[in-house]
Amino acid sequence: MLKAYKYRIYPNQAQKVQIAKTFGCCRFVYNQTLAYRKETYEKENKSVSKTDCNNYCNRKLKKEYEWLKEVDKFALTNAIYNMDSAYQKFFKEHAGYPKFKSKHDNHRSYTTNHTNGNIAADFEGGKVKLPKLKEVRAKLHRKFTGQIKSATVSQVPSGKYYVSILVETAHEEMAHTDHNIGIDLGIKDLCITSDGKVYENPGTIKKYERKLKRLQRQLAHKEKRSRNYYKKKKQIAVCHEKITNTRKNYLHKITHEMISENQVIVSENLQIKNMVKNHHLAKSIHDVSWYELTRQLCYKAEWNGRMYIKVDTFYASSQLCFVCGYQNAETKDLAVRKWICPVCGAGHDRDVNAAKNILAEGLRQIA
Ligand SMILES: [Zn+2]
Repeated sequence: MLKAYKYRIYPNQAQKVQIAKTFGCCRFVYNQTLAYRKETYEKENKSVSKTDCNNYCNRKLKKEYEWLKEVDKFALTNAIYNMDSAYQKFFKEHAGYPKFKSKHDNHRSYTTNHTNGNIAADFEGGKVKLPKLKEVRAKLHRKFTGQIKSATVSQVPSGKYYVSILVETAHEEMAHTDHNIGIDLGIKDLCITSDGKVYENPGTIKKYERKLKRLQRQLAHKEKRSRNYYKKKKQIAVCHEKITNTRKNYLHKITHEMISENQVIVSENLQIKNMVKNHHLAKSIHDVSWYELTRQLCYKAEWNGRMYIKVDTFYASSQLCFVCGYQNAETKDLAVRKWICPVCGAGHDRDVNAAKNILAEGLRQIA
């Protein structure tokens, strides 16, 4: 099974220059081979394969532009293959025609392949070995074992560098458990489980969101392209990253816990678009978190032999009494947090009852 391990890296000045050069050369090769492909098609009505494009790069571009030889060759080939996938997508899925990459593109990365130990992680020394860069200082917070396949070096808008190492790892299956849970995705809290466990939205995110708003207001008052303008922009990028990283780390912790402890995990199949129409809810919808939560549950369940099911939103999970099945229309009102079933007398917490119904529905569907 292939797994990616992402680490922050701290290149020195010379390494930064080499990385920037590689980004530039990859962009150049991407654009040149895309143009070559386009031209050949327009002039000769001939289609060109990715191998042709790679040969064009090796035989023509590298002769004409000697500096292309100064960067990692796999990075260039992968840039060409990326161009090819964008091109294939255009044909097969009728996506947009591949665009030429701009210098101002915020997404800077390149991928290199493993061969003869050119990529390695030194967990004791806190270093990663990469082609053309030699040893780069890294924060290796997680160990891995297995065969390295490739490494992707990237730089985010705030200026930080990362490496994502793709590793073929042996799969260790989790022990089977008889415990299952239903999850009710909440508004105030992130989610509530059928066990009554509440996962709150991390307060740090709210703090950063307030800070982000403040920075964005400040940016509006700066003169465009002034030094202070770029300073603010960088602060905004850092703040965005903090929000994204905090959210991801928190969700990884939650989904890991849910997957470890349960065999079947059931949640609503949220049609976020539909919910956004409701203006009152729109503001508090943590659609990004929900989307990420369900995405993580999905692949982690698959990795670990667990079952993750999404049940229909049309199912009135918060209205049905979990015990007797009575439908209580009064709970349509979101303000009703606790209620007692008028038929069987069971006391319910709104969200836990919903989560129990969601679990029951999921189990019914697989039975
Ligand atoms: Zn009841």
